[in-house]
Amino acid sequence: MDQILGQVLRNAVWERLDMLADLATRADTDSLVSVARSELPRLTEGWRAMLSAHEPDERGDCPTCSTRWHRCKAPCSVWQVAHEHLVAGGLAPQQDLRRSSRRTRATVPNQSRAPKPTQVETTGRHALIPQVAAH
Ligand SMILES: [Zn+2]
Repeated sequence: MDQILGQVLRNAVWERLDMLADLATRADTDSLVSVARSELPRLTEGWRAMLSAHEPDERGDCPTCSTRWHRCKAPCSVWQVAHEHLVAGGLAPQQDLRRSSRRTRATVPNQSRAPKPTQVETTGRHALIPQVAAH
């Protein structure tokens, strides 16, 4: 039973990721903005939660990836994937495209003009699909 629940859980996560990737390529601009405002904070929160479980301990090992018999030196594979996708592979292409006007890393987190929470953000985590379809 645990195995079935585990499979259901994993499938749900894969399907969610598929849906977000699909939205990124097919949704119109208004929908994309709504999705970005509601989903990006959740994605970053998810990364933070996952990465905090893989922070190195006082010996420089990952406490989550290490076993009693095998110590896993930090940065573990989770941190390596995070760096590859969020830093090396994630923002680099955009920096290349926009290098003449501004630096992505300096401007993106500094949203002083961020609007108040929208309808999308306050309607709950499972309201994404109907919201996007309504646009
Ligand atoms: Zn780890």
